[in-house]
Amino acid sequence: MDRTHLLSDQDEVHSGPSCPGESYADPNTVPGDHGATAPPADLMPVVPGYESLGPNVIPPSDFGSAQPQAPYRAPERRFDIPAISEELAQEAFTKYVSSKCCYGSKPAREMVFTDLQSLNTYRYRLETFTESRTTEWDSEPYNGQVVDGFGVAPGPWSIPVPIPSLFKDCEKAVRVPHTSTVKGCHSCLNLGRSACGRCVNSGRTRCGSCSGTGWTQSSDRQRCMMCRGSGMIKCHSCGGVGSITCKTCKGQGKLLCFIKLKVTWKNNIHVAVIDKRSGFPVEYLDQIAGEKLLTDMASMVYPVVGFPDSSVNAASESAVREHQAQFSTTCHILQQRQTIELIPITRVHYTWNEKTYIYFVYGIEHKVYTKDYPAKCCCCSIL
Ligand SMILES: [Zn+2]
Ligand SMILES: [Zn+2]
Ligand SMILES: [Zn+2]
Repeated sequence: MDRTHLLSDQDEVHSGPSCPGESYADPNTVPGDHGATAPPADLMPVVPGYESLGPNVIPPSDFGSAQPQAPYRAPERRFDIPAISEELAQEAFTKYVSSKCCYGSKPAREMVFTDLQSLNTYRYRLETFTESRTTEWDSEPYNGQVVDGFGVAPGPWSIPVPIPSLFKDCEKAVRVPHTSTVKGCHSCLNLGRSACGRCVNSGRTRCGSCSGTGWTQSSDRQRCMMCRGSGMIKCHSCGGVGSITCKTCKGQGKLLCFIKLKVTWKNNIHVAVIDKRSGFPVEYLDQIAGEKLLTDMASMVYPVVGFPDSSVNAASESAVREHQAQFSTTCHILQQRQTIELIPITRVHYTWNEKTYIYFVYGIEHKVYTKDYPAKCCCCSIL
């Protein structure tokens, strides 16, 4: 494991999504500002139970397999809703047309309804909230902290880390107890200082005022006042000393190394829209709120059975199966939630000027979608 890798991993932890886990109230929580890196892995001791550290997630073998609860039986009621009234359909349409700068209002005013069809559309959503864990060596400057490298380190999955909040992505890093050890700093070879890169240890750099010549560039050619003619000035980076405090050990020359446990919580979402192939583009529904018909939450949900529309049952069945296959071996599934929403869609057929047209009124907000409005000006038809 190289140094850059460790650095980038640390950055991820400390600049991750903001969540309560970053408050580091727990004394075991890894502080975020030490900026140290751990020595190369081959210099580190082998801790029983932590033989292979790295980016791969640790299978949650410590858990008994959770049993799904009893099948979720949908209530015995029909979720059919009638098509909206002609009055409402026309009102929504008129509002929509007036919001378009180059739609003429005539068809919306003069149209004659021929049919209004209700197209119940269901949105099924499965959320699987998972926790995964990885481990790696980390370090901080050693200045006399307690070293707890005695005793048996608890397994990666037996360290309790409280969940900040359900169904929200979050990350947290904690120190694994009984893994700390003191090592010399590999960056500065225990010196606490490293060579100044700017002056290459000399403590002096070329004078910028005279470009190192010792003389001014003007025609009268005088001795440079900045460097008193020497062409060199004191290095700003190290103050003329030639070395700087080691960033890894903050000048201590020693590091407290420990195994860091990284815990990642993720809400994995699967959405299925069961549409009626009505010609309505389902992607328009992404931003639309539906009416919640069912919410079922458990540590492991069972697919919905008995919902009046069997496509919803099938969508639930395949989503639950898919998430189980995807997450149960690599993550600990903490909680699942499935919801079914009803999104009302009405397809409106109307005639105007002896021709037939269609538009859709959708969502509880009564939004309108149409692609064949008869009175667009030419710029719209090009677009
Ligand atoms: Zn100079
Ligand atoms: Zn320097
Ligand atoms: Zn150092």
